[in-house]
Amino acid sequence: MDFDSTIFPLRPAWVEIDLARLRNNLRLIHRDLPKNVRLLAVVKDEAYGHGALDVARIAREEGAWGFGLSTLEEAMILRDAGITTPLLLLGERQEAELPWCVEHNLTVCVNEPHTVRKLARAAASANKRVPVHVKIHTGMSRYGVRWDEALPLIELIGAEKSLSLEGVMTHFAQSDETDKTFANLQFSRFNEVLQGLAARGVAVKLRHTCNSGGFLDLPHAHLDMVRVGILMYGVFPSSVCRRIPGIEPVMSVKARIAAIQKLKPGEVVGYGMRYTAPSERRIAVLPIGYGDGFPRVRNQGGALIHGQRAPLVGGIAMDALMVDITDIPEAQMWDEAVIMGRQGGEEITVHDMAKLKNSVSYEVLTSWRLRLRRKSVNGKNKQ
Ligand SMILES: *Cc1c(COP(=O)(O)O)cnc(C)c1O
Repeated sequence: MDFDSTIFPLRPAWVEIDLARLRNNLRLIHRDLPKNVRLLAVVKDEAYGHGALDVARIAREEGAWGFGLSTLEEAMILRDAGITTPLLLLGERQEAELPWCVEHNLTVCVNEPHTVRKLARAAASANKRVPVHVKIHTGMSRYGVRWDEALPLIELIGAEKSLSLEGVMTHFAQSDETDKTFANLQFSRFNEVLQGLAARGVAVKLRHTCNSGGFLDLPHAHLDMVRVGILMYGVFPSSVCRRIPGIEPVMSVKARIAAIQKLKPGEVVGYGMRYTAPSERRIAVLPIGYGDGFPRVRNQGGALIHGQRAPLVGGIAMDALMVDITDIPEAQMWDEAVIMGRQGGEEITVHDMAKLKNSVSYEVLTSWRLRLRRKSVNGKNKQ
């Protein structure tokens, strides 16, 4: 079944991806980035919910060196689509995944001796010399070899003829807040490792540390490559990090009015009867609910209709939410409502949604469920 929105009718609730904005964000990022620094476009988790294939195509056209991914499945989807650029898997690999990575030229991070040996064996039996990256944990205590134990591991890699050390990386626990003390401590630990490598005469092509926050605020840590995710999607990682004018959000969430109810004073709305009409009210039903990733709120938030804010009333359901359109008399059946994004002069931002969820912008982007189809717009040609 081809669910392409130009062929199959789009459900009256969808995620809209503006590929022209994505392209423009990539251009602005490239313009900001020193010429010799490469861009790894991070497209894990379906490109933060935007659709990995569309994003990868545009990012490639705009000069990304390669793509950052989390799982083997994510990487294989790009390879199956004919994408031949470097794909760097950012997490930890199980042994059973390694031969696949070798066969399909997926670059893995090797962070402990067992993986080094197993990957070397898989590469040797495929008659390949495969590039690897070492992830150095410099204080975040997530993936990677500790900074003060990294050199022996790197020597082990050097001793394996079927492996070549292409990259060393680390990841910041906090790069987008005003206080950079810990980020700078992490960077100095990373530099200790780099100095140790230099002293041993080990050359590394790609030294990389920065995510979006680091790219914006830690220019001394750019080194050879930056790994940018959220900023490419037009969302700044925090409210205090540096701004690049012109960066705009790529994702909007939209729905059409699927029912209109007229309420008399004292009548109620939705499960649990959490809203009682204080006067005559006109209510629009939008066919999108917590089953699509909208937070399960009551009488909070809203939608934009005809460029005006319609407050959400009652509790939200799996497949529906209700908004008050009493003050928007021109609103009619199947009119477009914006759940997240811009309409007229009004905007509901990703950060507004994050507040509603008690969460962060990253989770808002990735938690719109895939049953909301992605409709991409403005994606046709490179200009
Ligand atoms: C997800 C991820 C990134 C991208 O982070 P953003 O803040 O979205 O730019 C970079 N590096 C690693 C290791 C990651 O896991």
